[in-house]
Amino acid sequence: MVEIECLVCGEPIKIPSCIVSEDYDGQLFCHKCNLLWNIKLKSSKVIKYKLAEKQPEVKPNIKIISGIPRPKERKEK
Ligand SMILES: [Zn+2]
Repeated sequence: MVEIECLVCGEPIKIPSCIVSEDYDGQLFCHKCNLLWNIKLKSSKVIKYKLAEKQPEVKPNIKIISGIPRPKERKEK
């Protein structure tokens, strides 16, 4: 299993199990810094490691609302 670290943030990029590391030429995505890399593998070694020319459009950060604020329950005295 080949381990590739993102050149920008150092985060390990997970290679999907469907990719054969013996011979692969394609794109891998770093989920941490949202960068797409052109990576070429041969015999489980990285031959080419280059920033993809076409970067995916980064969606604007969507604020995740963790929960709808509930009205405070009135405690009956
Ligand atoms: Zn990264």
